[in-house]
Amino acid sequence: MRRPIIAGNWKMYKTLGDSVATAVALKSLVANANHCEVIVAPVFTALKSVADRLEGSNVKVAAQDCAAEKNEGAFTGEVAAFMLRDAGCSHVIVGHSERRQYYAETDTSVNRKAQAAVTAGLNAIVCVGEDLTQREEGIAENVVRGQITGGLRELTGSDLDRIIVAYEPVWAIGTGHTATPEQAQEMHAFIRRVFAERHSESAADKLRILYGGSVKPDNIAELMKQPDIDGALVGGASLNADSFAQIINYK
Ligand code: PEP
Repeated sequence: MRRPIIAGNWKMYKTLGDSVATAVALKSLVANANHCEVIVAPVFTALKSVADRLEGSNVKVAAQDCAAEKNEGAFTGEVAAFMLRDAGCSHVIVGHSERRQYYAETDTSVNRKAQAAVTAGLNAIVCVGEDLTQREEGIAENVVRGQITGGLRELTGSDLDRIIVAYEPVWAIGTGHTATPEQAQEMHAFIRRVFAERHSESAADKLRILYGGSVKPDNIAELMKQPDIDGALVGGASLNADSFAQIINYK
């Protein structure tokens, strides 16, 4: 049985004060949500304060990125995965499409970051997904297969227990155009098959695959009915504690 995960990606929104206020409001709104794991991903500068205020609650904290280097060193502007752990994070998002699109993230860097995260004891939420042209050209599955195999190369055995995949079709992120539950289910089932081929049936069975792309309080329940959808990565609708709590409390 895979425990669902509902994670909120706050992107580059909210000051430190706003992040803490939203986290504190969310904490009480979801105090009884035992059916899923709840995660929030604030900006770097708010991670430690948010983690401190959420300590002992059922809301965990993720960073939105980490360095590809495992150890500290002369890498100006980077933050190592073990430093995120030190700041109170349990998870980190890697390979978000906005990082691939605007900051030249590649499957190779995603792979190094996922390895750094796992080595530091973090759980990595590895994002994959095709853009609109790729979907229209009928190559969505090939694109996602490449991202999964490239992004998770050399991760084996117990490392895989720390991997969560987020399928986020780029055409659905921040656009209001959610994939239909059937479209999402089809790709999630495909991702699980690829995972089984590359790793094992049992690793594929355990893998949690989140859907991301314009998830809202009014579409989460239908998405969650699909057998291979194990949760959601939510952007815009996670910025407000009430709407995010409605998504989390979809049951
Ligand atoms: C995201 O940023 O991961 C995302 C899914 O955004 P939105 O929910 O706003 O489409």
